[in-house]
Amino acid sequence: MKRIKHWINGELVNGKSDRTGPVFNPALGEQISEVLLASDYEVDDAVKAAKKAFPEWSSLPAIRRARIMFRFNELLMEHADELAELITSEHGKTIEDSLGDIMRGREVVEFSCGIPHLMRGEFTEDVGTGVDAYSIRQPVGVCAGITPFNFPAMIPLWMFPLSIACGNTFILKPSERDPSCPMKLVELAKEAGVPDGVVNLVNGDKEAVDAILVHPDIDAVSFVGSTPIASYIYSTAAQFGKRVQALGGAKNHMVVMPDADIDQAADALISAGYGSAGQRCMAVSVAVAVGDKTADSLVETLVPKIQELKIGPGSSSDIEMGPVVTKQAYDRITSLIEKGVSEGASLVVDGRSFNLQGYEEGFFMGGSLFDNVTEGMEIYKQEIFGPVLSVVRSQDYESAIDLVNRNEYGNGTAIFTKDGDAARDFSERVQIGMVGVNVPIPVPVAYHSFGGWKRSLFGDTHMHGMEGVRFYTRLKAITSRWPKSGVREGHSLNMPTME
Ligand code: NAD
Repeated sequence: MKRIKHWINGELVNGKSDRTGPVFNPALGEQISEVLLASDYEVDDAVKAAKKAFPEWSSLPAIRRARIMFRFNELLMEHADELAELITSEHGKTIEDSLGDIMRGREVVEFSCGIPHLMRGEFTEDVGTGVDAYSIRQPVGVCAGITPFNFPAMIPLWMFPLSIACGNTFILKPSERDPSCPMKLVELAKEAGVPDGVVNLVNGDKEAVDAILVHPDIDAVSFVGSTPIASYIYSTAAQFGKRVQALGGAKNHMVVMPDADIDQAADALISAGYGSAGQRCMAVSVAVAVGDKTADSLVETLVPKIQELKIGPGSSSDIEMGPVVTKQAYDRITSLIEKGVSEGASLVVDGRSFNLQGYEEGFFMGGSLFDNVTEGMEIYKQEIFGPVLSVVRSQDYESAIDLVNRNEYGNGTAIFTKDGDAARDFSERVQIGMVGVNVPIPVPVAYHSFGGWKRSLFGDTHMHGMEGVRFYTRLKAITSRWPKSGVREGHSLNMPTME
């Protein structure tokens, strides 16, 4: 059986830990490989390599690091099909969706190509007589990134290219569910010219993560995953003196106003609710229909579209939705559907009975739709992270926006309307980090920044864009004076001013 190792100092290594985890093909429901799970030893080895590589890499002119990013971007393009196959075989999403996962990650590599401009400082001449002031951005040191299963290309690419372009060295700890694509990414980084030790990858689970969080030579940690783990990462890494950005889970609402084009809104809900089998942090899981008339026509339009979803192995063409990632995810989602029924929500489409001939062991389910969901129900409160959409009926716009604002999560939201006033009011007052107006999945492009509010993000800085550059750099302010020769001003114990 294929064994997925670690990548330390530019080569594949076994390490010393003999713990392994299974990697499944979700369409077949079969284990296809095993991944080594690192202990403190492998993490420490990776940190040593990253620390050793830092002085030379960080002092390389930014333009030379940018040239490597240009080459890396080309290699990602050349290897896109191979990367997509790796993603689909371990995650389950369709090949088209896997290509989208790579493309959205590549955009951050393209952004990182601009690093000489992005790291440019500020200069003020003559802040006092003969005194100049300037601010520069310098790398933080050794950074680590811990990533979830749902975007095995995009989320590692949110982190390490920008971090190393800023002059840091990096340790990636990808999800143990689909580690093959991240491994290929770091191999391609080497091929692009990234020196050994600048990017390392340790595979593993909680043990490897804990070793990262307490390691004295790691300076910054980026995390993306579920909220309980994000909160744990934030508090633990901060306690050990690290800079942290920890992005958590989500419960994204899409408000459908009475004047919305119902067909357009329904199509958006199908894409955002069932794409990647609902396993996106920006998936819409709650449709808030304003008024019973809106709700009735929305549900009526959604039902046939859900029943007609083309479900199958992601590697087949013409498939819209693949399986969910693991048997545990399948069981959790079906038990939440059961809970929704017992709590009194109306299960209008039940995806649990879906079966695919020839793939009986695969983790497939059909799309499900609940109507009449209320705020106290578990299916409303929990992030289901599966192909299940809930319709909440709201009597008016004010109660719809209040509902969104009361939710503990604050990742993404959208409003579908033809009314500019309503859209503007919503964008201004909604307590959510990323907002779409007639756009169901408002994932910002790479040169803007990605991040939620409330319990969807712990820390201050969002990912990529200028927020990403700020996270991966430290500001230094220099005040400089070159006295004219022979001029002596003597000393003063007063607070220096520029008078
Ligand atoms: P997860 O939290 O289970 O795992 C994320 C990472 O944390 C993995 O690398 C995993 O190995 C590690 N981990 C898991 N349990 C741990 C523990 N007890 N201690 C230390 N580390 C641990 O998340 P997942 O299931 O891989 O991904 C799905 C979740 O990620 C969803 O909640 C989704 O909303 C969220 N997500 C958020 C964003 C965002 O940008 N906000 C993006 C993608 C995914």
